Amino acid sequence: MEQRKGRRLILFPLPFQGHINPMLELANILHLKGFSITIIHTNYNSLNPSSHPHFTFHSISDGLSESEASAKDILRLISLLNVKCVEPFRECLASLLSDVSEEPVACLISDAIFHFAQSVADRLKVPTVVLRTGGASSFTVFAAFPQLREKGYIPIQDSRLEEPVSEFPHLRVKDLPVLKRWESEECYQLVEGMSNGFKTSKGLIFNTFEELEEQALGKIRQHFPIPIFPIGPFHFPTASSSLPLSTEDESCITWLNSQAPKSVIYVSFGSIAAINEAQFLEIAWGLANSKQPFLWVIRPESIHGGSQWLELLPSELLENFNVRGNIVKWSPQKEVLSHPAVGVFWAHNGWNSTLESICEGVPMICMPCFTDQMVNAIYVTNIWKIGLQLEKGADRGEIERMIRRLMQEKEGEEIKARSLKLMEKANLCFKRGGSSYQSLDGLVKHILSLESFVFGTQ
Ligand code: UDP
Repeated sequence: MEQRKGRRLILFPLPFQGHINPMLELANILHLKGFSITIIHTNYNSLNPSSHPHFTFHSISDGLSESEASAKDILRLISLLNVKCVEPFRECLASLLSDVSEEPVACLISDAIFHFAQSVADRLKVPTVVLRTGGASSFTVFAAFPQLREKGYIPIQDSRLEEPVSEFPHLRVKDLPVLKRWESEECYQLVEGMSNGFKTSKGLIFNTFEELEEQALGKIRQHFPIPIFPIGPFHFPTASSSLPLSTEDESCITWLNSQAPKSVIYVSFGSIAAINEAQFLEIAWGLANSKQPFLWVIRPESIHGGSQWLELLPSELLENFNVRGNIVKWSPQKEVLSHPAVGVFWAHNGWNSTLESICEGVPMICMPCFTDQMVNAIYVTNIWKIGLQLEKGADRGEIERMIRRLMQEKEGEEIKARSLKLMEKANLCFKRGGSSYQSLDGLVKHILSLESFVFGTQ
Protein backbone atom coordinates (compact mmCIF):
# COMPACT_ATOMS: atom_id res chain seq x y z
CA MET A 1 0.00 0.00 0.00
CA GLU A 2 1.47 3.36 -1.04
CA GLN A 3 1.24 6.59 0.91
CA ARG A 4 -2.28 8.09 0.91
CA LYS A 5 -2.74 10.64 -1.84
CA GLY A 6 -5.46 12.65 -0.07
CA ARG A 7 -7.63 12.30 -3.15
CA ARG A 8 -10.81 10.38 -3.85
CA LEU A 9 -11.83 8.58 -7.04
CA ILE A 10 -15.46 7.94 -7.91
CA LEU A 11 -16.03 4.73 -9.88
CA PHE A 12 -19.21 3.85 -11.75
CA PRO A 13 -19.40 0.20 -12.97
CA LEU A 14 -21.93 -1.16 -15.47
CA PRO A 15 -23.98 -3.64 -13.38
CA PHE A 16 -22.99 -6.91 -15.07
CA GLN A 17 -20.52 -9.46 -13.76
CA GLY A 18 -18.03 -9.03 -16.61
CA HIS A 19 -17.94 -5.28 -15.93
CA ILE A 20 -18.19 -5.25 -12.12
CA ASN A 21 -15.19 -7.56 -11.68
CA PRO A 22 -12.66 -5.46 -13.64
CA MET A 23 -13.98 -2.18 -12.18
CA LEU A 24 -13.56 -3.47 -8.62
CA GLU A 25 -10.15 -4.89 -9.44
CA LEU A 26 -9.17 -1.48 -10.81
CA ALA A 27 -10.58 0.11 -7.64
CA ASN A 28 -8.32 -2.12 -5.56
CA ILE A 29 -5.27 -1.31 -7.67
CA LEU A 30 -5.87 2.43 -7.30
CA HIS A 31 -6.59 2.03 -3.59
CA LEU A 32 -3.21 0.31 -3.21
CA LYS A 33 -1.74 3.33 -5.03
CA GLY A 34 -3.06 5.58 -2.25
CA PHE A 35 -6.43 6.84 -3.53
CA SER A 36 -9.68 6.65 -1.57
CA ILE A 37 -12.44 4.91 -3.47
CA THR A 38 -16.15 5.69 -3.75
CA ILE A 39 -18.34 3.41 -5.87
CA ILE A 40 -21.68 4.52 -7.32
CA HIS A 41 -23.79 1.50 -8.23
CA THR A 42 -27.31 0.85 -9.48
CA ASN A 43 -30.04 -1.02 -7.60
CA TYR A 44 -29.99 -3.50 -10.42
CA ASN A 45 -27.36 -6.13 -9.54
CA SER A 46 -26.67 -4.05 -6.47
CA LEU A 47 -23.24 -4.47 -4.84
CA ASN A 48 -22.67 -5.58 -1.29
CA PRO A 49 -20.62 -2.91 0.56
CA SER A 50 -19.51 -5.37 3.26
CA SER A 51 -17.40 -7.20 0.67
CA HIS A 52 -15.12 -4.15 0.34
CA PRO A 53 -15.16 -2.32 3.69
CA HIS A 54 -12.28 -0.06 2.58
CA PHE A 55 -14.49 1.51 -0.14
CA THR A 56 -17.53 3.79 0.23
CA PHE A 57 -20.62 2.67 -1.70
CA HIS A 58 -23.56 4.77 -2.92
CA SER A 59 -26.58 3.12 -4.47
CA ILE A 60 -28.70 4.96 -7.06
CA SER A 61 -32.18 4.10 -8.24
CA ASP A 62 -32.10 2.87 -11.82
CA GLY A 63 -35.86 3.25 -12.27
CA LEU A 64 -36.21 -0.18 -13.92
CA SER A 65 -39.60 -1.85 -13.53
CA GLU A 66 -39.62 -5.46 -12.34
CA SER A 67 -40.31 -6.74 -15.85
CA GLU A 68 -37.58 -4.54 -17.36
CA ALA A 69 -35.06 -5.76 -14.79
CA SER A 70 -35.88 -9.43 -15.31
CA ALA A 71 -35.99 -9.30 -19.14
CA LYS A 72 -33.37 -11.36 -20.95
CA ASP A 73 -32.76 -8.69 -23.62
CA ILE A 74 -29.38 -7.37 -22.53
CA LEU A 75 -29.23 -4.67 -25.21
CA ARG A 76 -32.59 -3.23 -24.16
CA LEU A 77 -31.49 -3.33 -20.53
CA ILE A 78 -28.29 -1.42 -21.22
CA SER A 79 -30.16 1.17 -23.32
CA LEU A 80 -32.71 1.64 -20.52
CA LEU A 81 -29.98 2.04 -17.91
CA ASN A 82 -28.33 4.68 -20.10
CA VAL A 83 -31.58 6.68 -20.05
CA LYS A 84 -33.01 6.01 -16.61
CA CYS A 85 -29.82 6.44 -14.60
CA VAL A 86 -28.98 9.92 -15.92
CA GLU A 87 -30.78 11.98 -13.27
CA PRO A 88 -30.11 9.75 -10.21
CA PHE A 89 -26.46 9.56 -11.23
CA ARG A 90 -26.23 13.34 -11.69
CA GLU A 91 -27.76 13.94 -8.25
CA CYS A 92 -25.46 11.45 -6.56
CA LEU A 93 -22.33 12.74 -8.27
CA ALA A 94 -23.21 16.38 -7.53
CA SER A 95 -23.76 15.60 -3.85
CA LEU A 96 -20.45 13.70 -3.62
CA LEU A 97 -18.59 16.56 -5.30
CA SER A 98 -20.02 19.11 -2.90
CA ASP A 99 -19.24 17.07 0.22
CA VAL A 100 -16.40 19.04 1.80
CA SER A 101 -16.10 16.61 4.73
CA GLU A 102 -14.50 14.06 2.38
CA GLU A 103 -11.21 14.17 0.49
CA PRO A 104 -11.46 16.14 -2.78
CA VAL A 105 -12.45 14.18 -5.87
CA ALA A 106 -9.66 13.77 -8.43
CA CYS A 107 -11.83 12.26 -11.18
CA LEU A 108 -14.69 9.96 -12.15
CA ILE A 109 -13.86 6.57 -13.66
CA SER A 110 -16.87 5.24 -15.53
CA ASP A 111 -17.54 2.19 -17.70
CA ALA A 112 -17.37 3.05 -21.42
CA ILE A 113 -20.83 1.56 -21.95
CA PHE A 114 -22.37 4.06 -19.52
CA HIS A 115 -21.81 6.73 -22.16
CA PHE A 116 -24.14 9.29 -20.54
CA ALA A 117 -21.77 9.54 -17.54
CA GLN A 118 -19.31 11.59 -19.60
CA SER A 119 -21.72 14.42 -20.38
CA VAL A 120 -23.05 14.48 -16.80
CA ALA A 121 -19.47 14.78 -15.51
CA ASP A 122 -18.66 17.46 -18.12
CA ARG A 123 -21.59 19.56 -16.87
CA LEU A 124 -20.44 19.15 -13.25
CA LYS A 125 -16.89 19.97 -14.34
CA VAL A 126 -15.33 16.83 -12.96
CA PRO A 127 -12.78 15.14 -15.24
CA THR A 128 -13.53 11.63 -16.41
CA VAL A 129 -11.28 8.73 -17.21
CA VAL A 130 -13.11 5.92 -19.01
CA LEU A 131 -12.64 2.20 -18.43
CA ARG A 132 -13.19 -0.13 -21.36
CA THR A 133 -13.56 -3.57 -19.81
CA GLY A 134 -13.20 -5.41 -23.15
CA GLY A 135 -10.02 -5.90 -25.15
CA ALA A 136 -8.32 -3.28 -27.32
CA SER A 137 -8.55 -5.38 -30.50
CA SER A 138 -12.32 -5.74 -30.34
CA PHE A 139 -12.56 -2.05 -29.47
CA THR A 140 -10.93 -1.09 -32.79
CA VAL A 141 -13.66 -3.07 -34.57
CA PHE A 142 -16.45 -1.40 -32.58
CA ALA A 143 -14.91 1.98 -33.38
CA ALA A 144 -15.06 1.10 -37.09
CA PHE A 145 -18.80 0.23 -37.06
CA PRO A 146 -19.81 3.33 -39.12
CA GLN A 147 -17.40 2.33 -41.94
CA LEU A 148 -18.36 -1.35 -41.68
CA ARG A 149 -22.02 -0.35 -42.08
CA GLU A 150 -21.22 1.95 -44.95
CA LYS A 151 -19.40 -0.87 -46.75
CA GLY A 152 -22.32 -3.22 -46.16
CA TYR A 153 -20.48 -5.72 -43.90
CA ILE A 154 -23.10 -5.11 -41.23
CA PRO A 155 -25.92 -6.00 -40.92
CA ILE A 156 -24.36 -9.39 -41.57
CA GLN A 157 -25.68 -11.23 -44.62
CA ASP A 158 -25.67 -15.02 -44.73
CA SER A 159 -24.16 -14.97 -48.23
CA ARG A 160 -21.03 -13.11 -47.00
CA LEU A 161 -20.24 -14.98 -43.76
CA GLU A 162 -16.88 -16.38 -44.91
CA GLU A 163 -15.73 -13.21 -46.69
CA PRO A 164 -12.66 -11.51 -45.17
CA VAL A 165 -13.22 -7.99 -43.86
CA SER A 166 -10.79 -5.75 -45.77
CA GLU A 167 -10.19 -3.36 -42.82
CA PHE A 168 -9.49 -6.27 -40.44
CA PRO A 169 -7.64 -8.98 -42.36
CA HIS A 170 -7.84 -11.50 -39.49
CA LEU A 171 -11.61 -11.37 -39.39
CA ARG A 172 -14.28 -12.88 -41.56
CA VAL A 173 -17.70 -11.24 -41.76
CA LYS A 174 -19.04 -13.86 -39.34
CA ASP A 175 -16.43 -12.80 -36.73
CA LEU A 176 -17.69 -9.21 -36.49
CA PRO A 177 -18.72 -8.33 -32.92
CA VAL A 178 -22.49 -8.05 -33.28
CA LEU A 179 -25.13 -9.30 -30.88
CA LYS A 180 -27.44 -10.54 -33.62
CA ARG A 181 -26.82 -10.61 -37.35
CA TRP A 182 -29.49 -8.00 -37.94
CA GLU A 183 -28.98 -5.38 -35.27
CA SER A 184 -31.45 -2.71 -34.28
CA GLU A 185 -30.60 0.98 -34.57
CA GLU A 186 -30.49 0.91 -30.74
CA CYS A 187 -27.42 -1.33 -30.87
CA TYR A 188 -25.54 0.92 -33.27
CA GLN A 189 -26.30 3.91 -31.08
CA LEU A 190 -24.94 2.09 -28.07
CA VAL A 191 -21.73 1.08 -29.88
CA GLU A 192 -21.33 4.62 -31.17
CA GLY A 193 -21.92 5.99 -27.67
CA MET A 194 -19.25 3.65 -26.32
CA SER A 195 -16.62 4.31 -28.96
CA ASN A 196 -17.16 8.08 -29.17
CA GLY A 197 -18.55 9.03 -25.78
CA PHE A 198 -15.13 9.29 -24.17
CA LYS A 199 -13.62 11.69 -26.71
CA THR A 200 -13.91 14.54 -24.22
CA SER A 201 -12.62 12.33 -21.41
CA LYS A 202 -9.13 12.70 -19.96
CA GLY A 203 -8.03 9.17 -20.75
CA LEU A 204 -8.98 5.60 -21.56
CA ILE A 205 -7.99 2.59 -19.43
CA PHE A 206 -7.84 -0.92 -20.87
CA ASN A 207 -7.70 -4.19 -18.99
CA THR A 208 -4.97 -5.51 -21.28
CA PHE A 209 -1.21 -5.34 -21.62
CA GLU A 210 0.97 -3.81 -24.29
CA GLU A 211 2.64 -7.07 -25.40
CA LEU A 212 -0.74 -8.75 -25.94
CA GLU A 213 -2.47 -6.12 -28.07
CA GLU A 214 0.32 -3.88 -29.27
CA GLN A 215 -1.10 -3.31 -32.75
CA ALA A 216 -4.60 -2.49 -31.62
CA LEU A 217 -3.32 -0.15 -28.91
CA GLY A 218 -1.16 1.59 -31.53
CA LYS A 219 -4.20 2.05 -33.75
CA ILE A 220 -6.26 3.45 -30.89
CA ARG A 221 -3.48 5.90 -29.97
CA GLN A 222 -3.41 7.06 -33.60
CA HIS A 223 -7.13 7.66 -33.81
CA PHE A 224 -8.03 8.98 -30.38
CA PRO A 225 -6.27 12.08 -29.12
CA ILE A 226 -6.39 11.13 -25.43
CA PRO A 227 -3.92 9.18 -23.27
CA ILE A 228 -4.40 5.40 -23.36
CA PHE A 229 -3.48 3.30 -20.31
CA PRO A 230 -3.19 -0.48 -20.79
CA ILE A 231 -2.67 -1.52 -17.17
CA GLY A 232 -3.99 -5.08 -17.15
CA PRO A 233 -4.47 -7.84 -16.35
CA PHE A 234 -6.21 -6.18 -13.41
CA HIS A 235 -6.76 -9.32 -11.39
CA PHE A 236 -3.04 -10.07 -11.19
CA PRO A 237 -2.06 -7.60 -8.50
CA THR A 238 -5.42 -7.90 -6.69
CA ALA A 239 -6.35 -11.55 -7.02
CA SER A 240 -9.22 -11.57 -4.51
CA SER A 241 -11.08 -8.42 -5.44
CA SER A 242 -13.96 -9.42 -7.71
CA LEU A 243 -17.49 -9.47 -6.38
CA PRO A 244 -19.58 -12.44 -7.49
CA LEU A 245 -23.28 -11.78 -8.05
CA SER A 246 -23.95 -15.52 -7.56
CA THR A 247 -22.73 -17.81 -4.80
CA GLU A 248 -19.47 -19.51 -5.68
CA ASP A 249 -19.57 -23.28 -5.23
CA GLU A 250 -16.24 -23.98 -3.50
CA SER A 251 -16.87 -27.73 -3.46
CA CYS A 252 -15.48 -27.93 -6.99
CA ILE A 253 -12.02 -27.04 -5.65
CA THR A 254 -12.12 -30.07 -3.33
CA TRP A 255 -13.14 -32.16 -6.35
CA LEU A 256 -10.30 -30.68 -8.44
CA ASN A 257 -7.87 -31.63 -5.66
CA SER A 258 -8.64 -35.29 -6.38
CA GLN A 259 -7.94 -35.05 -10.14
CA ALA A 260 -4.70 -35.72 -12.00
CA PRO A 261 -2.58 -32.73 -13.09
CA LYS A 262 -3.74 -31.00 -16.31
CA SER A 263 -6.47 -33.62 -16.85
CA VAL A 264 -9.65 -31.55 -16.33
CA ILE A 265 -11.62 -29.62 -18.96
CA TYR A 266 -13.17 -26.55 -17.33
CA VAL A 267 -16.33 -25.48 -19.20
CA SER A 268 -17.94 -22.10 -18.59
CA PHE A 269 -19.70 -19.61 -20.82
CA GLY A 270 -19.63 -16.63 -18.48
CA SER A 271 -22.47 -14.75 -16.86
CA ILE A 272 -24.76 -13.88 -19.81
CA ALA A 273 -24.38 -16.25 -22.77
CA ALA A 274 -27.01 -18.95 -23.19
CA ILE A 275 -27.19 -22.05 -25.40
CA ASN A 276 -30.16 -23.96 -26.79
CA GLU A 277 -31.30 -27.39 -25.63
CA ALA A 278 -29.83 -29.24 -28.63
CA GLN A 279 -26.41 -27.63 -28.08
CA PHE A 280 -26.60 -28.38 -24.37
CA LEU A 281 -27.10 -32.08 -25.09
CA GLU A 282 -24.31 -32.21 -27.71
CA ILE A 283 -21.91 -30.61 -25.20
CA ALA A 284 -22.97 -33.11 -22.54
CA TRP A 285 -22.47 -36.11 -24.87
CA GLY A 286 -19.22 -34.70 -26.24
CA LEU A 287 -17.82 -34.36 -22.71
CA ALA A 288 -19.00 -37.82 -21.71
CA ASN A 289 -17.57 -39.45 -24.86
CA SER A 290 -14.21 -37.68 -24.46
CA LYS A 291 -13.60 -39.73 -21.29
CA GLN A 292 -11.77 -36.75 -19.77
CA PRO A 293 -12.73 -35.42 -16.34
CA PHE A 294 -14.58 -32.10 -16.55
CA LEU A 295 -15.92 -29.27 -14.41
CA TRP A 296 -18.93 -27.61 -16.05
CA VAL A 297 -20.57 -24.37 -14.92
CA ILE A 298 -24.26 -24.46 -15.86
CA ARG A 299 -26.12 -21.34 -14.76
CA PRO A 300 -29.80 -22.20 -14.23
CA GLU A 301 -30.97 -19.57 -16.76
CA SER A 302 -28.34 -20.44 -19.35
CA ILE A 303 -30.33 -22.96 -21.40
CA HIS A 304 -32.92 -21.48 -23.79
CA GLY A 305 -36.23 -23.29 -23.94
CA GLY A 306 -37.57 -23.33 -20.42
CA SER A 307 -35.43 -26.03 -18.85
CA GLN A 308 -34.61 -25.24 -15.23
CA TRP A 309 -31.24 -26.93 -14.85
CA LEU A 310 -30.15 -30.54 -15.48
CA GLU A 311 -33.48 -32.22 -16.13
CA LEU A 312 -32.75 -32.51 -19.87
CA LEU A 313 -29.86 -34.87 -19.23
CA PRO A 314 -30.79 -38.55 -19.64
CA SER A 315 -30.07 -40.71 -16.57
CA GLU A 316 -27.33 -42.71 -18.36
CA LEU A 317 -25.45 -39.43 -18.92
CA LEU A 318 -25.93 -38.29 -15.34
CA GLU A 319 -24.51 -41.61 -14.13
CA ASN A 320 -21.50 -41.14 -16.40
CA PHE A 321 -21.12 -37.60 -15.07
CA ASN A 322 -21.09 -38.79 -11.49
CA VAL A 323 -18.00 -40.80 -12.27
CA ARG A 324 -16.01 -38.27 -14.24
CA GLY A 325 -17.71 -34.90 -14.01
CA ASN A 326 -18.63 -32.11 -11.69
CA ILE A 327 -21.39 -29.60 -12.43
CA VAL A 328 -21.82 -26.35 -10.50
CA LYS A 329 -24.04 -23.29 -10.91
CA TRP A 330 -21.20 -20.80 -10.41
CA SER A 331 -17.51 -21.44 -9.76
CA PRO A 332 -14.68 -19.43 -8.20
CA GLN A 333 -13.27 -19.20 -11.74
CA LYS A 334 -9.88 -17.64 -11.06
CA GLU A 335 -9.16 -20.26 -8.42
CA VAL A 336 -10.30 -22.97 -10.82
CA LEU A 337 -8.08 -21.75 -13.66
CA SER A 338 -5.05 -21.59 -11.39
CA HIS A 339 -5.63 -25.14 -10.14
CA PRO A 340 -2.96 -27.64 -11.31
CA ALA A 341 -5.64 -30.18 -12.33
CA VAL A 342 -7.12 -27.89 -15.01
CA GLY A 343 -5.73 -28.63 -18.47
CA VAL A 344 -8.12 -26.85 -20.84
CA PHE A 345 -10.70 -24.06 -20.61
CA TRP A 346 -13.70 -24.44 -22.91
CA ALA A 347 -14.79 -20.80 -22.92
CA HIS A 348 -17.17 -18.34 -24.57
CA ASN A 349 -14.24 -15.90 -24.72
CA GLY A 350 -15.67 -13.06 -22.73
CA TRP A 351 -12.68 -10.76 -22.27
CA ASN A 352 -12.26 -11.42 -18.54
CA SER A 353 -12.35 -15.18 -19.01
CA THR A 354 -9.90 -14.94 -21.91
CA LEU A 355 -7.43 -12.87 -19.88
CA GLU A 356 -7.82 -15.08 -16.80
CA SER A 357 -6.98 -18.12 -18.92
CA ILE A 358 -3.98 -16.38 -20.51
CA CYS A 359 -2.67 -15.45 -17.06
CA GLU A 360 -2.74 -19.09 -15.96
CA GLY A 361 -1.34 -20.47 -19.22
CA VAL A 362 -4.45 -22.62 -19.81
CA PRO A 363 -5.14 -23.42 -23.50
CA MET A 364 -8.67 -22.73 -24.69
CA ILE A 365 -11.44 -24.30 -26.70
CA CYS A 366 -13.21 -21.21 -28.03
CA MET A 367 -16.96 -21.16 -28.55
CA PRO A 368 -17.84 -17.46 -28.80
CA CYS A 369 -21.52 -16.49 -28.72
CA PHE A 370 -21.75 -12.78 -29.55
CA THR A 371 -20.20 -9.28 -29.59
CA ASP A 372 -16.51 -8.98 -28.65
CA GLN A 373 -16.30 -12.73 -27.88
CA MET A 374 -16.14 -13.34 -31.65
CA VAL A 375 -13.06 -11.16 -32.06
CA ASN A 376 -11.40 -12.44 -28.86
CA ALA A 377 -11.77 -16.03 -30.10
CA ILE A 378 -10.04 -15.17 -33.41
CA TYR A 379 -7.13 -13.64 -31.49
CA VAL A 380 -6.87 -16.71 -29.24
CA THR A 381 -6.88 -19.15 -32.14
CA ASN A 382 -5.23 -17.31 -35.07
CA ILE A 383 -3.02 -14.59 -33.59
CA TRP A 384 -1.79 -15.86 -30.22
CA LYS A 385 -2.43 -19.48 -31.27
CA ILE A 386 -3.26 -20.63 -27.76
CA GLY A 387 -6.53 -22.37 -28.50
CA LEU A 388 -8.79 -23.98 -31.09
CA GLN A 389 -12.14 -22.72 -32.28
CA LEU A 390 -15.22 -24.87 -32.08
CA GLU A 391 -18.03 -23.72 -34.34
CA LYS A 392 -21.24 -22.97 -32.48
CA GLY A 393 -23.54 -25.88 -33.17
CA ALA A 394 -20.71 -28.44 -33.25
CA ASP A 395 -21.98 -31.97 -32.68
CA ARG A 396 -20.74 -34.48 -30.09
CA GLY A 397 -18.28 -36.08 -32.54
CA GLU A 398 -16.65 -32.73 -33.36
CA ILE A 399 -16.46 -31.90 -29.67
CA GLU A 400 -14.81 -35.20 -28.83
CA ARG A 401 -12.26 -34.72 -31.65
CA MET A 402 -11.51 -31.16 -30.51
CA ILE A 403 -10.84 -32.33 -26.94
CA ARG A 404 -8.56 -35.07 -28.22
CA ARG A 405 -6.60 -32.62 -30.44
CA LEU A 406 -6.00 -30.32 -27.53
CA MET A 407 -5.40 -32.84 -24.75
CA GLN A 408 -3.75 -35.79 -26.44
CA GLU A 409 -2.12 -34.77 -29.73
CA LYS A 410 1.09 -32.96 -30.72
CA GLU A 411 -0.92 -29.95 -31.87
CA GLY A 412 -2.20 -29.61 -28.29
CA GLU A 413 1.34 -29.82 -26.92
CA GLU A 414 2.38 -26.90 -29.12
CA ILE A 415 -0.64 -24.86 -28.11
CA LYS A 416 0.12 -25.58 -24.45
CA ALA A 417 3.74 -24.42 -24.91
CA ARG A 418 2.61 -21.15 -26.51
CA SER A 419 0.05 -20.61 -23.70
CA LEU A 420 2.84 -20.94 -21.13
CA LYS A 421 5.02 -18.46 -23.03
CA LEU A 422 2.20 -15.92 -23.14
CA MET A 423 1.55 -16.47 -19.43
CA GLU A 424 5.20 -15.56 -18.75
CA LYS A 425 4.75 -12.30 -20.68
CA ALA A 426 1.62 -11.53 -18.69
CA ASN A 427 3.56 -12.19 -15.48
CA LEU A 428 6.37 -9.87 -16.49
CA CYS A 429 4.22 -6.86 -17.33
CA PHE A 430 3.51 -6.21 -13.63
CA LYS A 431 7.10 -6.55 -12.49
CA ARG A 432 8.99 -3.29 -11.81
CA GLY A 433 9.66 -1.68 -15.18
CA GLY A 434 7.12 -3.93 -16.99
CA SER A 435 4.68 -2.36 -19.45
CA SER A 436 1.58 -2.37 -17.21
CA TYR A 437 3.64 -1.32 -14.20
CA GLN A 438 4.84 1.74 -16.12
CA SER A 439 1.46 2.48 -17.60
CA LEU A 440 -0.11 2.36 -14.13
CA ASP A 441 2.50 4.81 -12.85
CA GLY A 442 1.60 7.04 -15.78
CA LEU A 443 -2.09 6.79 -14.94
CA VAL A 444 -1.54 7.74 -11.29
CA LYS A 445 0.52 10.80 -12.30
CA HIS A 446 -2.09 11.70 -14.90
CA ILE A 447 -4.96 11.50 -12.41
CA LEU A 448 -3.05 13.69 -9.95
CA SER A 449 -2.37 16.20 -12.72
CA LEU A 450 -6.11 16.51 -13.37
CA GLU A 451 -6.57 18.24 -10.01
CA SER A 452 -5.68 21.64 -11.35
CA PHE A 453 -8.57 21.24 -13.76
CA VAL A 454 -11.13 20.34 -11.08
CA PHE A 455 -10.12 22.85 -8.49
CA GLY A 456 -9.30 25.55 -11.02
CA THR A 457 -12.81 25.56 -12.42
CA GLN A 458 -15.06 24.90 -9.45
N1 UDP B 1 -17.00 -16.16 -13.53
C1 UDP B 1 -16.92 -16.76 -12.29
N2 UDP B 1 -17.51 -17.98 -12.12
C2 UDP B 1 -18.18 -18.62 -13.11
C3 UDP B 1 -18.25 -18.01 -14.38
C4 UDP B 1 -17.64 -16.78 -14.56
O1 UDP B 1 -16.31 -16.22 -11.34
O2 UDP B 1 -18.70 -19.71 -12.87
C5 UDP B 1 -16.39 -14.83 -13.68
C6 UDP B 1 -15.15 -14.91 -14.56
O3 UDP B 1 -14.02 -15.20 -13.75
C7 UDP B 1 -15.11 -13.52 -15.19
C8 UDP B 1 -16.57 -13.10 -15.23
O4 UDP B 1 -17.28 -13.96 -14.36
O5 UDP B 1 -14.36 -12.64 -14.38
C9 UDP B 1 -17.19 -13.22 -16.61
O6 UDP B 1 -16.71 -12.21 -17.42
P1 UDP B 1 -16.42 -12.44 -18.96
O7 UDP B 1 -15.94 -11.15 -19.52
O8 UDP B 1 -15.54 -13.61 -19.16
O9 UDP B 1 -17.82 -12.86 -19.58
P2 UDP B 1 -19.31 -12.24 -19.49
O10 UDP B 1 -19.93 -12.83 -18.29
O11 UDP B 1 -19.18 -10.74 -19.41
O12 UDP B 1 -19.93 -12.72 -20.76
